[in-house]
Amino acid sequence: MPEVPPVPLSQLTTLRTGGVPARMIETSSSDELVAALRDVWADGDRWLVLGGGSNLFAGDDEFDGTVIRVRSTGIEELPGSRPDTVRLRVQAGHDWDALVAETVARGYAGIEAMSGIPGTVGAAPVQNVGAYGQEIVQTLVEVELIDESTGDVSTVPASDLGLGFRTSVLKHHYGSVPDRPAVILSVTLELERVGAAERPLAGEQLRSALGLGPDEAVSLRWIRDHVLATRARKGMVLDDEDPDTWSAGSFFQNAIVSEAFARTLPDECPRWPMSPVLDPIRVIPLAAFDGVLPPPPVERREVKVSAAWLIEHAGLSRGFRLPGSRAGLSTKHTLALTNRGEASAAEIAQLARFVQQRVHAEFGLLLQPEPVLVDVEL
Ligand SMILES: Cc1cc2nc3c(=O)[nH]c(=O)nc-3n(C[C@H](O)[C@H](O)[C@H](O)COP(=O)(O)OP(=O)(O)OC[C@H]3O[C@@H](n4cnc5c(N)ncnc54)[C@H](O)[C@@H]3O)c2cc1C
Repeated sequence: MPEVPPVPLSQLTTLRTGGVPARMIETSSSDELVAALRDVWADGDRWLVLGGGSNLFAGDDEFDGTVIRVRSTGIEELPGSRPDTVRLRVQAGHDWDALVAETVARGYAGIEAMSGIPGTVGAAPVQNVGAYGQEIVQTLVEVELIDESTGDVSTVPASDLGLGFRTSVLKHHYGSVPDRPAVILSVTLELERVGAAERPLAGEQLRSALGLGPDEAVSLRWIRDHVLATRARKGMVLDDEDPDTWSAGSFFQNAIVSEAFARTLPDECPRWPMSPVLDPIRVIPLAAFDGVLPPPPVERREVKVSAAWLIEHAGLSRGFRLPGSRAGLSTKHTLALTNRGEASAAEIAQLARFVQQRVHAEFGLLLQPEPVLVDVEL
């Protein structure tokens, strides 16, 4: 097994925190990853798979288990389900943005708005990555994964992954265990063949982020270039020279609240309706049908509200730092908690709790962290 000398997680995570793990394994193919996992699981060790470390907030103490790095790469092109589509099966360790760049170069549409998101392809379904209204759930067909409970490799359709707003059954939530302890080996996406053609953009969120009208037509290349530039202005593209990007991206999720609660927030707070959960087919067993249709279930409407706005309006501006702390809000975006250089996980956690308390005191709402927390509590 390709065991390597362990290095601190602070060197492998974009938030730059985390102690040295007891053991570290680097896998460069799917077969190596499967072998390593089966071995670690047989030992009953604690384990953590690590992609690009861009959605992890790791504690300062030693991780008393095995960290398995996923470095398998490769894109395989397969026929799509229709003549105008194509499928790509991509290895879990492949760099996500390199994949997006490749799809744009080949003229395949579907993930171009997610240009510049750091990390690996295998981690993308874990929190159903998304940006500007595009999410991987829209193009994900299936994943190949290995389950810890059986050690078996299987192909699982996207519909079985519980993909929701920045979550899935594979995501650990703050000290809990995931619903399905499993590791993704490869990901299959279905994309549309559009070539270099210029087309109007379908999504309102993307159009407004890029300043486009409903009829303005642009190419995939144009979208990628402009998304990258827009993200860079907000410190959302990794840059070794820019501490505003030494983060886990958005540290807090936009809050999902009931429509009734959203009405208690100031009108200026940006909000977006969540799509209703559609359940159009209702089956009434013939024996139970008395000729009268039961009333439809009451729909609980939910609204997504801007966490960045809540933070700013709780009195915390860009660049905010607690006295003496090496952690701070990004100077470009209040939603990113950043490491201004050598900050410990304890300092980042202290800032995160402070933000949560201020927002809670002001608006009665507890912001939830987006990254996966490993040996650290808020
Ligand atoms: C500057 C910046 C901007 C960002 N912008 C966005 C954004 O716009 N949208 C967005 O959604 N996210 C964003 N993120 C968060 C992050 O980039 C994504 O969540 C990304 O998919 C994480 O990939 P990773 O390989 O770095 O995962 P890691 O951080 O290595 O791991 C994250 C979690 O996934 C698990 N995991 C990793 N690989 C696998 C695998 N193969 N199988 C099963 N579990 C696995 C890990 O154990 C861990 O629990 C941003 C982060 C940064 C730093």
